[in-house]
Amino acid sequence: MEEILVEQLMSTDVPIMDASQPLALAVREMSARSLSCMILLNESATPVGIITERDMISIAALALDGKIDWHEPAADHMSARLIYLRPEQSLFEALVVARAREVRHLPVLGKDNKLAGIVTATEMVRAHFSVFESLSEAAEKTVAVRRDDFASVTARLRTLSLEDPLLGIGNRRALDRDMEHIEGASRRYQHVYSVAMFDVDRFKAYNDRYGHPAGDRVLREIVTIFSAALRSADRLFRYGGEEILLLMPETDLPGAMIVADRLRESLEVRALPHEKSKRGVVTVSGGVAEGGFRHEPPGWEAVVHAADRALYKAKKSGRNRVISSTD
Ligand code: GH3
Ligand code: MG
Ligand code: MG
Repeated sequence: MEEILVEQLMSTDVPIMDASQPLALAVREMSARSLSCMILLNESATPVGIITERDMISIAALALDGKIDWHEPAADHMSARLIYLRPEQSLFEALVVARAREVRHLPVLGKDNKLAGIVTATEMVRAHFSVFESLSEAAEKTVAVRRDDFASVTARLRTLSLEDPLLGIGNRRALDRDMEHIEGASRRYQHVYSVAMFDVDRFKAYNDRYGHPAGDRVLREIVTIFSAALRSADRLFRYGGEEILLLMPETDLPGAMIVADRLRESLEVRALPHEKSKRGVVTVSGGVAEGGFRHEPPGWEAVVHAADRALYKAKKSGRNRVISSTD
């Protein structure tokens, strides 16, 4: 925040009067124009003194005692000890001067010692508080922005840490969290759920033939294809390197077999080239298992394990197929 200078603060509309003019004129002027002060100038227009409201009270007291000659020059009743400011002084300095010298009106003198303007204590205090207010407003805004930044970074970190960075689906942490949740809910509400474990067929050979970056692209492609074939409640997780787990809430084994096989088939028909596999295209094998209130012992780990065993069977029996844990 820039410092406020006297120059920016001062009023250039200064009430002035020739110091040799009669006191009566000064009183009439100040009363008629509701002035709180009047600067008196000498013949060369240099300020020589000031008459303020405070001086007016002394003048009124003298008048009551009949000790005033209204024709006397105003200069006889002015405060000749003129305390003034320079335009380049800061608001803070001006406040210090006004307080130390106990004055409420400070003429501002330019380089030639000619009157350039006037600053009153009221204006200085007002300016001081407006600076203070804008500073605290700015501080409040900064704090609010920081708070927003912090919230969005925290939210982002949370999703990042639950998301697999390559595939943009849930990671193992998200899987643990969601499986724990669905296992508990299925027992409470007497529901079942199913999982399908998929594994890309001959993927090592794919990497060897097309390169690791191409392998990454295929994994992303598989997720895109699967996502398009999914029902809205179903969720995909990256279980391991090229193993993807599909969680199907409130789905029994026969239903899950249909969904899982639809996913497998949707990839096969896309016919992504894979020279090193038997069918010449990228395929997956899958194993499906059911969990929930009908199954003992409780625990989702056993369900995933059963799906994994079924997947192994699918691999053994020729790949590009989905096998149920009960087969
Ligand atoms: P199978 O049909 O029996 O599953 O054969 P496979 O070659 O797919 O099986 P294996 O487990 O021998 O090899 C898996 C390969 O998957 C090896 C590994 O380099 C690759 N892989 C795992 N994660 C990634 C990944 O994120 N990107 C790429 N490009 N390759 C991956
Ligand atoms: Mg594997
Ligand atoms: Mg594999």
